[in-house]
Amino acid sequence: MVGAGPGDPGLLTLRAQTLIKECDVLVYDHLANRRIHDWASADCFLIDVGKSPGRHTVEQAEIGKILVEKAREGLKVVRLKGGDPFVFGRCAEEMLALDEAQISYEVVPGVTAALACAAYAGIPLSHREYGSSICFLTGHEDVAKESLRVDFAKFSEVGGTLCIYMGMSKLEEIVEKLLAGGLDQGRPAAIVSNGTLPIQRKIVAPLGKLVQHVRAENLGAPAIIFVGNSIGLTRSSTWFEQKPFLGRRIALTRNRGQHSKMRTSLERLGAEVLDLPLIEIQPSEDRKLIAEVFAGIATYEWVVFTSANGARFFMEFFFRAYNDIRSFGPMRIACVGESTAEVFKKYKLDVELIAKDSTAESLAKDLVATDSLDSANILVVTGNRNRDILVGLLETVGRAIVDTLPVYQTDFADILEAPDIEKFKKVGSDAIIFTSSSTALSYVEQSEDIKFEKGAKKPIFCSFGSQTSKTLQENDMEVTVKATHPSIDGLIEALLFYFNDSHEA
Ligand code: SAH
Repeated sequence: MVGAGPGDPGLLTLRAQTLIKECDVLVYDHLANRRIHDWASADCFLIDVGKSPGRHTVEQAEIGKILVEKAREGLKVVRLKGGDPFVFGRCAEEMLALDEAQISYEVVPGVTAALACAAYAGIPLSHREYGSSICFLTGHEDVAKESLRVDFAKFSEVGGTLCIYMGMSKLEEIVEKLLAGGLDQGRPAAIVSNGTLPIQRKIVAPLGKLVQHVRAENLGAPAIIFVGNSIGLTRSSTWFEQKPFLGRRIALTRNRGQHSKMRTSLERLGAEVLDLPLIEIQPSEDRKLIAEVFAGIATYEWVVFTSANGARFFMEFFFRAYNDIRSFGPMRIACVGESTAEVFKKYKLDVELIAKDSTAESLAKDLVATDSLDSANILVVTGNRNRDILVGLLETVGRAIVDTLPVYQTDFADILEAPDIEKFKKVGSDAIIFTSSSTALSYVEQSEDIKFEKGAKKPIFCSFGSQTSKTLQENDMEVTVKATHPSIDGLIEALLFYFNDSHEA
């Protein structure tokens, strides 16, 4: 029974992370952030017992049964619970099922929503002079139950700070009861919805005006309602609320394995990132060609890389052929751009040439300008979609002897299989980022399959580099944001500029 915290994956305990990494079965519901699932191993069996469109929540008893069944198969099961398992989490019912079946378990505490919301929204829960008790209350424990169970009027007498879970659908009634119990209209109150997530919002208002504010701002569940004098010390804006991409939804289109760095950078700045892989990249199967090239690797004067993927796969194949970096030989390395060159840093291999304009043409031009190509043996490492223009220029203008080595293959991935496609269709995104021509082409080819729902935000198109922009424009897709230079930082810089520059509401 593992507490998954309130939403931000950074708020899980180390113990929780270890167990998720090691488990065979992960049972989760909608309150646990999906990013957490990425920690599970590739063959971990994921079971969704939460509500999803067109399907009701799995009955509590049914969840108990699933846990028992999987444990009996000898599997390590993690039951992920939003926040803390013991705080309004119905953990007790699931524990009972395990006890009855004599299955042992451990409970890993989590950061409960009230504490997390308070921290991320700058709401002090206690203060020496204003509040010396903190209560966790629930508006309703069960959606099916109509009436409030907690006697809110009594808690008015207790005073201190009240943190009310699951109270949004009964907000009016709760406020009424608190006022009837003796709290004054002016008692400081606040509501934080979707705390710690990129869509976090808060309202700070006196108790008497809370309902009015919630209506005006259309604030919904999941949310925590805070009432108490120390709430009056709430900060107007916190480090979290000041993140420049907070409230922005950005779709990434690269193949899955390559998202992590860009995703982390965007999430750190507060963005909600949608995973929309549009291409699939596989290492080349042509073992014979690869073996031949590596056998003669020492004969090349230049090895030229047209993409970071090419560089990565090349090094992977290299270490399959040789155990020692010294076998790399004295050839010089040329790369199309910074992110490609980056791959070689890890091996402490110097890159002699990086194309000025990060295009195949400029790579060829800059290589020719070194005056070292005449009759030289050159290896061009590519994928299956790279254009022949580079090889052509090296041969004709540079008079080099060129071998090409395709080390990977790019295929379009089915957009309807993308992990976040449902959300993308439903709510859209502020921006969609194309990191290569192939992601752009894949989008063009499949755009008819994406049926945006009414009200979904149509994303602006962002491009990583000139070639990608060209491909987008050739297909009548307007490029609104172009990376200031073809790197993650260059893209973020351009996006920051765009969002700040009041180009849109
Ligand atoms: N065990 C959970 C609570 C489950 S009850 C915990 O310890 O946090 C579900 C309620 O938790 C929601 O109705 C809402 O009141 C609160 N909640 C959960 N996640 C939240 C979030 N990210 N922001 C605000 N409230 C949240």
